[in-house]
Amino acid sequence: MWGMTAPRIRCVIYVRISDDRAGAGLGVKRQEADCRELATRLNWDVVDVYIDNDLSAYSGKPRPGYRKLLEALQAGRATAVLAWHTDRLHRSPTELEEYISVCDPRGIVTQTVKAGPLDLSTPSGRMVARQLGAVARFESEHKAERIKAKHLELAKDGKSTGGGFRPYGYRRIYDHPDPPHRLLREELIPEEAAIIRECARRVLAGEGLLSVCKDLNRRGVPTSSMGIWTARQVASAAEVGAGDLGEEIRARLAAGEPASAIARDLKDRGVPLPVPGGWSTPTLARMLTSARIAGLREHRPRSRHQTTRVRTGEIMGVGEWPAIITPAESARLRVMLSDPGRRTSPGPTGKYLLTGLIYCDLCKHRMAGRAKSGGLRHYMCDGQPGRPGCGRVSARVEYVDEVIVVAAAGILTTPAFAAALAEVDAGADEGEAVAEITACEQDLADLAADHGAGVISRAEWMAARKPLQARIEAARSSLGRVDVGRVLEGLPTDSAGMEAFLLDGEVEASRRRAVVAVVLERVWVRPVIVRGSKRFDPARLVPAWRF
Ligand SMILES: [Zn+2]
Repeated sequence: MWGMTAPRIRCVIYVRISDDRAGAGLGVKRQEADCRELATRLNWDVVDVYIDNDLSAYSGKPRPGYRKLLEALQAGRATAVLAWHTDRLHRSPTELEEYISVCDPRGIVTQTVKAGPLDLSTPSGRMVARQLGAVARFESEHKAERIKAKHLELAKDGKSTGGGFRPYGYRRIYDHPDPPHRLLREELIPEEAAIIRECARRVLAGEGLLSVCKDLNRRGVPTSSMGIWTARQVASAAEVGAGDLGEEIRARLAAGEPASAIARDLKDRGVPLPVPGGWSTPTLARMLTSARIAGLREHRPRSRHQTTRVRTGEIMGVGEWPAIITPAESARLRVMLSDPGRRTSPGPTGKYLLTGLIYCDLCKHRMAGRAKSGGLRHYMCDGQPGRPGCGRVSARVEYVDEVIVVAAAGILTTPAFAAALAEVDAGADEGEAVAEITACEQDLADLAADHGAGVISRAEWMAARKPLQARIEAARSSLGRVDVGRVLEGLPTDSAGMEAFLLDGEVEASRRRAVVAVVLERVWVRPVIVRGSKRFDPARLVPAWRF
């Protein structure tokens, strides 16, 4: 019979796991089964199966299974290759050219389940293969874009994307405990919501982020990620982790396993964290600027070239979770903490009361607090080489603080100040600014939707965004002025009590500074006029008062 004389083609199967969250990802078992079915149809003999666990397509990481496949072909153990799709076979144009150089001289045939035969023996066949490779690469690069688009869609629907670790203040309720599961709703965790309210109140009252963080850590207040493995914890353990655990993590990462999968596994195994988490200023800033705590949903896009998200995104509307602070408080916090161009904290930091408010009258540069040997503390114009100051003015901290505090306390506790404050408060319409921001952000969201639906072009979208963003910026800057009422809330109303508070070393300097800054715009320090005088001359201080 003719069938007995014809030698059957010996083929090898190559399968690769691909991490495709969009849903097209197929397990190796399924890929192999499809390939074997194709082999049966073609009447080929499967002599070997090569598998790679390469979750990061185009990462350039070595694929041991793929190397073995090429070796088997070079050794002549098979004359055909079966794969599920060409994109499983080679990940880059360089790899395709190598594949061609192995297959072409040996007349090796390639068949795929999804893309049919790959003809590498003719120039036109090779051109098709190269084009297929380019398309696969294009699609992989756009996978990230698709995931982002999915998040944008969820943000518009007011649904949580459910990714990452749970947001502080909220408990996630799923349909069942193990993934893959569906997020049903989010509930408040009262103790954490109370911490968020406390932090918001303190930062709005002018306290520095660092001071709040130190206090939370001192009190042992846990963060949402404390004691829980996250991708970030895995990365840092890989960097600094010692012993078996560090080695295990490094080996698994090197083998291409995603940090998030390692984190899940370590969490399930109950492996304790090597470095306990804690409150840091970025964590706190992220929490307080997140629109989520005001019950609002926002979309924070992250471009492929950025490793971190922008701190504040566009407000997309009202979310499906309960609010912890008001939208007005949120808007103010977002203004205070989010603008990277201006500053990263509500006010200057440091342990000196007048840091950021005190200037040299000779050169007009800022003066800084310094402790000299012997414990004497001075505000100094820094004249070191490379520093902008003239270095010719300095004044004892105790003397300057006392003069300024007595004057500030006097102003803060006069009836005239209270009257002036009431007038300012009436003028600053917080509600109007918040309404303006909300309306403009809604317009931006509508524009984004129009662009997404193809109603307007990208250029039209970008052009229409500009004036809206300018209006938001203007409304935000009117909101951004410090909330005077909050800063003064609960403070003594008599001048002696106010003086004692402002000079109280037990109270964080940033908190006291915020109170002084309500009435003091800045103070210039003149050089010593009468040489040899031991007494501090208050006339050396030239304050500019706001009231
Ligand atoms: Zn100076």
